[in-house]
Amino acid sequence: MPEGDTVWRAARDLHRALAGKVLTRCDVRVPRFATVDFTGDTVQEAVARGKHLLIRGGGEDGWDIHSHLKMEGLWHVYAHGEKWRRPAFKARCILETEDAVVVGFELGLLRVISRAEEDDAVGFLGPDLLGPDWDAEEALRRLREQPERPIGLALLDQRNLAGIGNVYRCEICFLTGVHPLTPVGEVPNLPRMVELSRKLLEANKLRTTRATTGQLRGNNLWVYGRSKRGCLRCKTPVALEQLGDRDTELRELYYCPHCQPRVEAPEATALP
Ligand SMILES: [Zn+2]
Repeated sequence: MPEGDTVWRAARDLHRALAGKVLTRCDVRVPRFATVDFTGDTVQEAVARGKHLLIRGGGEDGWDIHSHLKMEGLWHVYAHGEKWRRPAFKARCILETEDAVVVGFELGLLRVISRAEEDDAVGFLGPDLLGPDWDAEEALRRLREQPERPIGLALLDQRNLAGIGNVYRCEICFLTGVHPLTPVGEVPNLPRMVELSRKLLEANKLRTTRATTGQLRGNNLWVYGRSKRGCLRCKTPVALEQLGDRDTELRELYYCPHCQPRVEAPEATALP
């Protein structure tokens, strides 16, 4: 499942293949942008912004190919003549240079925007956990703006901090021993949770197996996807619920009721 680390790796691979290169083919297979053709333009760079990916080309005031992998999307880089590892009918964007063929398959979002529209497209995102401008204080400030919101939702909201997907939100709550429905304002150590998020994405950005346990071969996650096997630490059956809201997608939430007990806030004493 694509999270910030997956997108970071995709952007790195696209950057290596495209940056500074002239496009010899540009085929955007989305009806609205079917006539777009940047053949002859030079690509400047490919960058990740949270879970969004921007391919910037055509100079300072040029264009962006803006994509989001959502659930199934991926970008591949091939040599000319190399067999694609996904069927061609699933290709949504094909960019070629003299030495590479870059193909985006099943992209959940794919559009072409001008550089000037970039801020509208990704400006709403909170600090990027893997970005050069990562700002923990700003992420904390944004999280604390909604103290009543369950932490399991707040971590997933890309406007607070960008890059955490469903796997990480579950694992981060587990690693800090926090029940995911705990309101943000009652999380005992929010700064530690934010710092841990960055560390996990950093540690995993160069790997293809995502691990939060230090183990890369099996048992690489503590609770995510373990509703049948139980918590990796204590073997208690892992709870599986759906948690989402207006601003986040409804997704599976895994947690260990033993390692992440729900701590009720003490009742406020009514003043006489
Ligand atoms: Zn447990």
